Amino acid sequence: MRAAATSERVASSRTAHSGVAIVRIPMPLRESEAIVLQSYPLGEADRLVSFLSRSIGRVRGVASGARRTKSRFGSTLERLSHVRIWFFEKETRELVRISQTELIESFLDAFRDYASGIGLAIISEVTEAVLPDREASDANFRLLLLTAQAVKRTGKWEVPLAYFALWTVKLGGWLPPWDVCSRCGAVLTASDPAYFSRSSSALVCGKCRKPGLRIIPAPALVAARKMLAQRLDRLSDADISNAAARELTDVALDVIERQIDRKLKSRELLEPTA
Ligand SMILES: [Zn+2]
Repeated sequence: MRAAATSERVASSRTAHSGVAIVRIPMPLRESEAIVLQSYPLGEADRLVSFLSRSIGRVRGVASGARRTKSRFGSTLERLSHVRIWFFEKETRELVRISQTELIESFLDAFRDYASGIGLAIISEVTEAVLPDREASDANFRLLLLTAQAVKRTGKWEVPLAYFALWTVKLGGWLPPWDVCSRCGAVLTASDPAYFSRSSSALVCGKCRKPGLRIIPAPALVAARKMLAQRLDRLSDADISNAAARELTDVALDVIERQIDRKLKSRELLEPTA
């Protein structure tokens, strides 16, 4: 609030000093906790930044001068930086003007690690791709932050990425029934594999299986149930194997790609499992 009041004072005093009788309506300055999703060079010195703000959802904005060496933004606009951000909004413009940022937590070092970087690149791209403009989603915000922190803390991405992808599908409302066959309704047991159809984003049992469906081994089905029932930081490594996590990641990313109707670029970094 103090920042907003100051900016309005600055705006009105400038108008007064110029002596020109133009009434300028100050743009409202907003403040939010946010996570940087993507950042692109813009013009000679600026950056176009897509960020997930906790208060109003996914927003894109311009950070003027952010690519100059002595920029006031420093390294706060790197992907997945958890920041406090101040920005000006105009109702008629899609892009906001980013005024200031303050780093809460950096993921720069985790990104520099090749393996961790793969996981982090995928979660930022997925979040950017699935969330609509300007719709606050605290659940997606917390999921992204919790996942990035787990990758950074452990240096491992398999289980956190699977958890993230599965929950992104669930929060999007695209999760197929996980306990019963979508064709005949039979219960999918913990001892038999199930079969996933990419074209219909559905799981079927062994009897309803058709050629070309992806096999989901029983341990992966069990892992998915654990992930859907537990917080990520309460899952222990012993609970879920990397192989099961990779299966689930592939299934969930297939569902996501079907929803956004395109391939995820960062997914090419993953070695194919099937
Ligand atoms: Zn069936």
